[in-house]
Amino acid sequence: MISLVLEDIELDLLNYVNYDFATKFNVLPIRRYDNGVIIICSEIMDKVINDLKVMFNDNVVPYIRSIESVQQNIAHYYEVFKSRQNLSDENLDDIYDDTIRTAIDMKVSDIHIEPNKSGSNVRFRRNGELEMFKKLSFRAHKFISTKIKVMSNLDITEKRISQDGKITYKYNDFKYNLRVSTLLTSKGEKISIRIHNNRNEYENIIDLGFSEEQIEIIEKYLMKKNGMIILSGPTGSGKSTTLYKFIEHINTEKVSIYTIEDPVEYEIDGINQSSINEKAGLTFDEISKNILRHDPDVLMIGEIRDEETAKVAVSSSVVGHKVFSTIHAKDSLSVVTRLIDLGVSEFLAIDALDLVISQRLVKKLCRCKKKKYIDEMIVFNKKYEKAKYYSPNGCEKCKFTGYSGRILLSEILVIDDIIKDMLLKKKIMADIRKYIEMKYFEYSFSQNVQTLIESGEVYIKDMEILK
Ligand SMILES: [Zn+2]
Repeated sequence: MISLVLEDIELDLLNYVNYDFATKFNVLPIRRYDNGVIIICSEIMDKVINDLKVMFNDNVVPYIRSIESVQQNIAHYYEVFKSRQNLSDENLDDIYDDTIRTAIDMKVSDIHIEPNKSGSNVRFRRNGELEMFKKLSFRAHKFISTKIKVMSNLDITEKRISQDGKITYKYNDFKYNLRVSTLLTSKGEKISIRIHNNRNEYENIIDLGFSEEQIEIIEKYLMKKNGMIILSGPTGSGKSTTLYKFIEHINTEKVSIYTIEDPVEYEIDGINQSSINEKAGLTFDEISKNILRHDPDVLMIGEIRDEETAKVAVSSSVVGHKVFSTIHAKDSLSVVTRLIDLGVSEFLAIDALDLVISQRLVKKLCRCKKKKYIDEMIVFNKKYEKAKYYSPNGCEKCKFTGYSGRILLSEILVIDDIIKDMLLKKKIMADIRKYIEMKYFEYSFSQNVQTLIESGEVYIKDMEILK
């Protein structure tokens, strides 16, 4: 018999629907998504859907499958669910390895263990989105949190202050760096684990998703001995990944590279990385003074977020070090204003900057997409008429989410002499933009977005929230 079992589902959802209900009405919840809980069923019965809405306290989105397919999935997943629950309560020894290995197999970036009244929830962040992995009993929670703290050399008696540590985890002949941090919440101690080099999605800068023209510009500026390269974008935009890949790209024996990070997120052989640790007296000020005494070729500052970090970044660049950093700013031109807002002199900010890259990650539509009518919309100042646009649909391949993977949207701004001059002369931004668009191919987000919408790579409504 052909197996009709889905690749994976969010097992936690089975907590809400008991086995008898599932088999009687032939329904199985698959996952939670933006529009509610996705279920598969062999026929749509309003009464059942309504019951499920109450059980989940959420909207329910049904997908019809054949009777056999739903039955097979129910049988398979309730079995897995049962064995997981037993694992949580009886096989305490396995729960640590089981959680970490599953996370690695699923290419998860973070594991969150969040205490609640009955124990804790273990959630995974994958492709930027959180999903439930499993619920732990109080006993299982206590066991796994102690084990993680021991493995990462944290003080197990200390529960009131946040602690940071790391674990080198060996699995399938590969070493994974796990960065552990604890945080006291009102419900108890929360543990987060970030899994680094999780079989690196990106081998080098070519894989990051920039266009060929952009890679050419990036490579040219990476090879320059000085100047400042800044990446901007909100949390989850992938800017740290890009930054690390840039550093790896220029990392050779001939170059001395130093970093100041809060904390070190990803370790690279052959470079000198320092984590800020205020409690241990390792302040940004202290570390940067030390590093500058070593006269580095390259200085990487994890994030420019206040006057101090902004001034060190800019002044180091002006005196001839090559500087890399990230900053929160809505687009690449706003980086200049952001630096000035943080207290850097306008002249120095403009003088120091060489290349600014602003980026976002957006969800890519799965091939099951369908065209649907969408009302008139404005995206990045461009008006889109009411028309049919590609919209998410849902199939087994994308686990009924309608999406598959992500696309990098980027804006690359070379701060060349003409732009420096225009900025210093306080030319209006619209003029500067016009010059940039004329000179640099595919410069702005809006052009990127337009192409992606028109070619059906992305859902127009997802683009609306990009600012
Ligand atoms: Zn699909």
